[in-house]
Amino acid sequence: MTHEESDSERWDVIVVGAGPAGCAAAVAACRTRPGARVLLLDRSDFPRDKVCGDGIAAEAFDVLAELGMDAAAIADGYPPVERLRLAAPGGTEVERPLARPAHVIPRRVLDARIVAEALRQGVVLRQHAVRSVESTPDGVTVDGLRADVVVGADGAESVVRRALHPAPPAGTVALAFRAYADEPAGQTGTQVITMTSAHWPAYAWSFPDGTGRANVGYGEVLTAAPPSRAAMLERWDALAPAGGPRDALRAHRLPLSTGRPPIPDGRILLVGDAQCLINPLTGEGIFYAVRSGQLAGRAALAGARAGTLYRRAMRGALGRHFRHTTLLARGTRAPRIIDAAVRACRRDQRVFDDLLRIGLADGLLTPRLVTGLRR
Ligand SMILES: Cc1cc2nc3c(=O)[nH]c(=O)nc-3n(C[C@H](O)[C@H](O)[C@H](O)COP(=O)(O)OP(=O)(O)OC[C@H]3O[C@@H](n4cnc5c(N)ncnc54)[C@H](O)[C@@H]3O)c2cc1C
Repeated sequence: MTHEESDSERWDVIVVGAGPAGCAAAVAACRTRPGARVLLLDRSDFPRDKVCGDGIAAEAFDVLAELGMDAAAIADGYPPVERLRLAAPGGTEVERPLARPAHVIPRRVLDARIVAEALRQGVVLRQHAVRSVESTPDGVTVDGLRADVVVGADGAESVVRRALHPAPPAGTVALAFRAYADEPAGQTGTQVITMTSAHWPAYAWSFPDGTGRANVGYGEVLTAAPPSRAAMLERWDALAPAGGPRDALRAHRLPLSTGRPPIPDGRILLVGDAQCLINPLTGEGIFYAVRSGQLAGRAALAGARAGTLYRRAMRGALGRHFRHTTLLARGTRAPRIIDAAVRACRRDQRVFDDLLRIGLADGLLTPRLVTGLRR
């Protein structure tokens, strides 16, 4: 059916964007009210690429499983990553096992598999690039399609967010480059993050996916106008020479949770990157995407009360966590604090676990982590 032919359609929920956040929202809505009419729109055909480090925390898989998705099928062919090596800006290093192994799955694969799981649960997917979203007295119109509630899951440059909020404040957006390379020698099963005090907060990563390839990249928080591509690549090379050809080199912006907009009442909800939900400490966003999507999808069938319910659910699930990550992001503006944290991780596996849980999922600042940061 063409877009023009569908003008008179009315949906319970339209989700804009079929990345992890959008699929989670669409599936959660279908599960909340079986038979609900849920339409997922994406400008791309799947499989499609997405610039990312491809690291997926175990907690993100927990949410996918809660949504009835087959986590083993989604991860098939990509073995768990058991270890993480962190090099702090001052050179202190730690390498330890992850309390819960992560995965590294190219987003071209991961997202197509998640979309397939969503379709299996009754979501309808259409390829369409959304240009306009307008509230009406009894619903929302998306390029002529009508819905009771719309969920904006259209990523970092969200069209839906721009209809509601100004651009994120300065200092709350990062820029990162990603490429694929051969797995570096001696790095099987180990994710590596190398931080630098130059242009802090900034780090390079190398995440092997278990197939002989690694996702490699470099990113930094933007405090002024974005640096040139040449300058970024120079900084990356200085920090972590990739040693070999890199392909699929692409850059993308990361809207950090320190700049997330308030969640308003009403019928338009934002999730994942569209809601600026990327961890300011690590660049993690997939866990937030699926958790916020799940919560928005559950609230989306409440019509005019959807925004209120979604705001409450987010506050309950992630409110304290966001306060703690913001505190930690402020505290670690001095790179020596990160060195102190890494030294504490060397002394105590539990501090390492706490740091990872706040950096990759919904952890909190624990007393032993705070003590470690002060020493
Ligand atoms: C370089 C880099 C490295 C990263 N590394 C990691 C990592 O290792 N681990 C991690 O957890 N997170 C990482 N992130 C963050 C992670 O990529 C995002 O947080 C995550 O993809 C957010 O999911 P999402 O569903 O909100 O948005 P997306 O995955 O961006 O999906 C948005 C979807 O919306 C569609 N869309 C956009 N505009 C429109 C439109 N107008 N109409 C219709 N459809 C539209 C797009 O085609 C896309 O399919 C990284 C980000 C970057 C940039």
